[in-house]
Amino acid sequence: MKNERKRRRFIRRPDVTVSLGLPVVVLLVLFGMIPTILCTQMLITSLRQSHLDSRMVEIQNQCQILSSKMTRTGYLRGELKDGSMDNEIQALADVYSGRIVVINKDFRIIQDTFHIAERRLMVAEEVIRCFQGESSSKYNRERHYFAQAIPIYDSTPVNGIEGVLVITASTEGILALTDTVFDKAVFLQLIVFLILILAAIVAVKMLLQPFKELQKKLDLVAAGALDTDISANGYQETKDISRAVDITLSKLKEVDQSRQEFVSNVSHELKTPITSIRVLADSLMGMDEAPMELYREFMEDISDEIDRESKIIDDLLSLVKMDKSEADLNITQVDIHVLVKQILKRLRPIANKRKVELILASIREVTADVDEMKLSLAISNLIENAIKYNSPEGWVHVTVDADHKFFYVKVADSGIGIPESEHDRIFDRFYRVDKARSRATGGSGLGLSITRNVVLMHKGAILLNSKVGEGSTFTLRIPLNYIA
Ligand code: ADP
Repeated sequence: MKNERKRRRFIRRPDVTVSLGLPVVVLLVLFGMIPTILCTQMLITSLRQSHLDSRMVEIQNQCQILSSKMTRTGYLRGELKDGSMDNEIQALADVYSGRIVVINKDFRIIQDTFHIAERRLMVAEEVIRCFQGESSSKYNRERHYFAQAIPIYDSTPVNGIEGVLVITASTEGILALTDTVFDKAVFLQLIVFLILILAAIVAVKMLLQPFKELQKKLDLVAAGALDTDISANGYQETKDISRAVDITLSKLKEVDQSRQEFVSNVSHELKTPITSIRVLADSLMGMDEAPMELYREFMEDISDEIDRESKIIDDLLSLVKMDKSEADLNITQVDIHVLVKQILKRLRPIANKRKVELILASIREVTADVDEMKLSLAISNLIENAIKYNSPEGWVHVTVDADHKFFYVKVADSGIGIPESEHDRIFDRFYRVDKARSRATGGSGLGLSITRNVVLMHKGAILLNSKVGEGSTFTLRIPLNYIA
């Protein structure tokens, strides 16, 4: 149940394909915007802090001046009667949108610019500390104000503290100023964001151009124009892709060409015996009174041609089977000596007919994992050729040997040999060295091709050693244990 649900979820997941441009645009915009936002934020914070700091220093200085003036004029002792100091205190409080409170020795408020706490007692911690000579200043972030307490000294030589000046000033003005700067910065960021998006889109378009061009060319190839020039030298990557596709295309063309060649060879090979049969039959029919012996001779020729046709068809079928996957191999443990012995027994009548001596030498016992039918066909082809392309009174030596990894079947003959220039080509389908002789012996031109395919299916190798007039030696080397 759980697995079923998992499977369904897996099946339902849509196949989302994103254009390469999208992540590139997103990344470029992100990399552009993140530093811009961070820088603006840092600048505004430090701007606000420096404004606050300078305002605090300014207020401190003003308070110091006021406190000294109070000392000098004996304000706290009531020596100044004209109210000029009160005006000054009020003006200072107004300038900083704040409140100034003056407290005397008895902790009683003698001046309050808000006029709400005069004559009241004020025993705050800052005030007590101030009377002990410790001035204090603090900033309240939540309520946006700044408070400062400064001692007022008396004018006696002892310099005792006769009062405290407490000022609270609002910082709203500074915050409003930095908020305006912040709004402008956000507007600027928006413009930068739009410029970045535009720049990223243009950059991506330019970046992807070589890929788009390559894709157009590949579309043409897909539509069938295999000869389209797909070179794309814009980037190393496009160059690599186009080179890889080019190699694949040439391989496809080769396969296509060899398939066409094969089909035309097959039709030619199948037509040749039929043409001979037609010529023989037509000439018999063209004769009014042909003697019986001539009839018999022509009919024997027709029968030979039919044998050839059926041999070509059999070989073609074997070859088609070999072209299928290796999974079609039916691997069993086979005694190679016994296998070769059976083949020789079957071929002995043909060898005797051509007066060719067949000799088997088994150097050691060999059992291997092979497909018996296919290997038997491969070895038969070699021994049949050794008999066919031999000279009268000749010999064929078959040797079976093995080491710890491979077994070897060597087929040596005393025949006509194969020119060195033809060694590679004789394994091609329908390739014959001496066309007339091969046809006369009933060869289809497919035997060695079949043998090579069988050997390759067994992950083995086939070696040829031959010289014209001296004979040929074909050696099969196949692993004792089949490698899947
Ligand atoms: P065929 O059916 O013509 O024998 P094969 O594929 O078996 O086709 O062989 C290809 C060609 O290789 C033959 O036509 C022949 O010319 C040459 N050949 C193969 N085996 C031998 C051999 N033992 N000695 C000389 N020539 C050979």
